[in-house]
Amino acid sequence: SKPVVAVVGRPNVGKSTLFNKLVGQRLSIVDDTPGVTRDRIYGECEWCGRKFTLIDTGGIEPNTKDVLLSQMRDQAQLAMDSADVIIMVTDLRVGVTAADAEVASMLLKSGRPVVLCVNKCDSVGDPPAEFYEFYNLGLGDPMAISSVHGHGTGDLLDKVISFL
Ligand code: GDP
Ligand code: MG
Repeated sequence: SKPVVAVVGRPNVGKSTLFNKLVGQRLSIVDDTPGVTRDRIYGECEWCGRKFTLIDTGGIEPNTKDVLLSQMRDQAQLAMDSADVIIMVTDLRVGVTAADAEVASMLLKSGRPVVLCVNKCDSVGDPPAEFYEFYNLGLGDPMAISSVHGHGTGDLLDKVISFL
């Protein structure tokens, strides 16, 4: 059957925006309020002739700090259990957070291929200095992307299918 790619990351980093961009349809709800993705959303993707199912993860619960962390652990667990490749999304403007570090270490232990994205890199050209902080997550070279503009999403897809 078709391989599965899961998108994980903290609320508001732009998972649903990226999902919609990659699927080419607005299947997932984008909102400034953290945690508005309803359940799990599935979409079909194709890149260079490779087909896969993309999953947008997210929660409906209000994101108090405790709920947020437990939700992110569940989300990461789900991705590790069901995905062939995991896309971890982070936010350039916010920087590396403790929750990012926790999820990154869970993903790292799973041994699944992880593609680390730094989203909201909206300006073209070299990424700003803050970008390099994301190397500290230990998931290899981060990829600078802008889900709104689509910058970097082709390189991201190349990397994803390299693991399929
Ligand atoms: P999610 O909670 O991780 O699914 O995040 P959403 O996709 O709902 O996006 C949260 C907010 O970030 C929305 O206001 C998006 O428009 C905004 N956003 C997402 N991607 C980008 C991006 O690449 N650049 C900028 N500037 N904003 C973005
Ligand atoms: Mg969402």
